Amino acid sequence: MPFLRLDNVVKRYGEHSAVQGVSFSAEKGEFVVFVGPSGCGKSTLLRMIAGLEEISDGDVLIDEKVVTHVEPARREVAMVFQSYALYPHMSVFENLAFGLRMVKTSEGEIKRRVAEAARILQIEALLQRKPRQLSGGQRQRVAIGRAIVRNPKLFLFDEPLSNLDAELRTQMRVEIAKLHRALGVTMVYVTHDQIEAMTLADRIVVLRAGLVEQVGTPTELYDRP
Ligand code: ADP
Ligand code: ADP
Repeated sequence: MPFLRLDNVVKRYGEHSAVQGVSFSAEKGEFVVFVGPSGCGKSTLLRMIAGLEEISDGDVLIDEKVVTHVEPARREVAMVFQSYALYPHMSVFENLAFGLRMVKTSEGEIKRRVAEAARILQIEALLQRKPRQLSGGQRQRVAIGRAIVRNPKLFLFDEPLSNLDAELRTQMRVEIAKLHRALGVTMVYVTHDQIEAMTLADRIVVLRAGLVEQVGTPTELYDRP
């Protein structure tokens, strides 16, 4: 049984369709990368899976449940954005705790989950800092931490490394791969970077102009003679 299923998903903006009917299934625990040039609909597709964008046509199923019209908070999905989207006036601890407070998690449970995420991401020493006192790589760790504390069944990553320099990108790629192995959860990652796709993916979906062009393992897609 697939864990995530897209069934002919469409997103229209007026006359224009950003996503033109995408069908795809991901198995539980799989790391899927959607790759393609800027404007091909990656971000729109991810936002529809997260529930942040209304779906014009088709269905999204998570864990065998149709969630097409389910609000984001009830999808058990967490998204990591390119822009980090941290709250500048809050400490790292409060940034990590924020989403949990919104759903009325107990203070003890918040402390436990934040501590666990901070340990996984090695940001324990930064918990009292404000985002402006962090490097780009540290900010991205906090952004990933904010996803981890929610204990999602599905992780979504929207070009999370695009704002980092080359060295940090490589380092964070390794971190994300480790995180996937450690948590064993399903991850969907979008990027325009083929190297990122090849090194992270169990399976790659190549998107072009809102349509699936190819699907395969990195070896199937890129190691052809
Ligand atoms: P990608 O993430 O691959 O760069 P996007 O999903 O951001 O692509 O965008 C896909 C297409 O949809 C682009 O042509 C973009 O201009 C268009 N688009 C995205 N969001 C909107 C919107 N809110 N209104 C109109 N067009 C949009
Ligand atoms: P990203 O690649 O991080 O999604 P974009 O610059 O593509 O960044 O999009 C930023 C925001 O603007 C998104 O919320 C997207 O939906 C919206 N957007 C993108 N293209 C258009 C467009 N042509 N018209 C209106 N809104 C758009």
